[in-house]
Amino acid sequence: MDELLSFVEAEFVETGVWLDNLNPRNGARINRVAEANEALLDRAVHSAKEATSKWGRASVSQRSEFLLAIAEGIESRFDEFARAESLDTGKPIHQARSLDIPRAISNLKFFATLIQTETLESCVTTTNDAPRALNYTVRKPHGVVGVICPWNLPLLLLTWKIAPALATGNTVIIKPSEHTPTSATLLAKVVAEIDASAGIVNVLHGKGPMSVGEMIAAHPGIDAVTFTGSSATGSKIMEVASKSVKPLSFELGGKNAAIVFSDADIEAAVKGVVRSVFSNSGQICLCTERVYVQHDIFDSFVSRLTEAVLALSFDDSSEKSLTLGPLISRDQRDKVMSYFDLAIKEGATAIIGGAVPHFGDERDDGFYVQPTVFTGVPKHSRFVREEIFGPVCQIEKFTTEEEVIAASNDTSFGLAASIWTNDISVAHRVAPQLSVGMVWINDWFRRDLRAPFGGTKLSGIGREGGHHSLDFYAPPSNVCLSIAGGV
Ligand code: NAD
Repeated sequence: MDELLSFVEAEFVETGVWLDNLNPRNGARINRVAEANEALLDRAVHSAKEATSKWGRASVSQRSEFLLAIAEGIESRFDEFARAESLDTGKPIHQARSLDIPRAISNLKFFATLIQTETLESCVTTTNDAPRALNYTVRKPHGVVGVICPWNLPLLLLTWKIAPALATGNTVIIKPSEHTPTSATLLAKVVAEIDASAGIVNVLHGKGPMSVGEMIAAHPGIDAVTFTGSSATGSKIMEVASKSVKPLSFELGGKNAAIVFSDADIEAAVKGVVRSVFSNSGQICLCTERVYVQHDIFDSFVSRLTEAVLALSFDDSSEKSLTLGPLISRDQRDKVMSYFDLAIKEGATAIIGGAVPHFGDERDDGFYVQPTVFTGVPKHSRFVREEIFGPVCQIEKFTTEEEVIAASNDTSFGLAASIWTNDISVAHRVAPQLSVGMVWINDWFRRDLRAPFGGTKLSGIGREGGHHSLDFYAPPSNVCLSIAGGV
């Protein structure tokens, strides 16, 4: 697709204002995107509002079938989706094929099934031991939900939001990241092929500030906003959305710690830590950026980690090992490199990496960064305090459990952490003391779609996953029925 258009009222619409979509592997233009404007957003809101009256009353099986039809549509264009995701993000095609697109399909299938099996609460109110009233809950969708997505796992995160939103009877206005517009456009094509879908799913292209992202957050006709992206953007969305007191669901940034105790299975811990730092070139909100290793195994851990990082490759034709792609943009690469400069200025040492790789081919015009590990970064440094979002971590020593819990919690973020130990009592003592939304023990990024997902502090508001998602997109309301006859 050379030109990507917004999708409103089941029509693809051009606006005459174009944004270039660049290939992070070589900086060349992939395609161009028609940027939506306020008039088009108004039209989308109007059409989505009209559609809510029908879609909000659709039966559970109609909604479930709609989600399954979208899932089937993605399956039938699987290769096209995987190629688009790999081209826009620069991630290896095998990752798009094994993670991004399959997870997008399972998000849709999961919520299609969940609403079929969900039962709601009820309770009987008694007075003087006699039943007096029956309370039962019903879910009410918000209406039109604005869905603002990032570029790191574009279709996976988009479907994670639209599946429960649609399952519970909302209509959606999706704004994909300006860096990764293609898979959302393909999704619109899939939706366009499903009958009677007009207005239920709309896709608007554009940027964030002073563009369609900000307009969605502020629009009085949009009833709720679900956002995944940086904490700074979350705060801006909150500000503009506050005027109409919209319900907000925020999945934001992280500064996640991995804690390696000396009794851990070192081989598994090295492998797990490498995966948690360098997957998707460090561009996953759950990626580890701080590694704390108990002092008596520190040196041997560092030498094994260095060996494992040296084995990482930029050759994305290989499916065998973790391979690194570029960062999403020149700006993101410059941002990551500025943190490297800062760490060096502040006296830290790069154990490995720390530079832009040289390939001698077109990738030199892309946005690559070497996989990097620093040590000795001062605690007050912005390198330690801020999310970097690149293929990098710091590694530091600790002695006691108390010390490492304090170090892990000494951050404004609170998304995830991982603990590596063979001592079950240590693992269960430490896990609840970490002020994060998710802790993995001897694992990382294993997701059960029923489990709650979300962060504390700057890492987000609310929880998604299973009925937590349903609770956001269609909060339960109570109906109280007198069963005693009269007031
Ligand atoms: P970003 O905040 O720059 O952009 C995300 C989306 O918001 C884009 O679509 C962008 O156009 C839009 N946007 C930007 N400014 C806006 C504004 N003022 N108003 C409305 N919309 C606006 O984030 P990104 O760089 O695309 O993604 C990386 C960030 O996302 C990282 O911080 C990462 O940790 C976070 N993330 C979090 C999770 C999670 O589940 N917690 C998952 C993935 C990514």
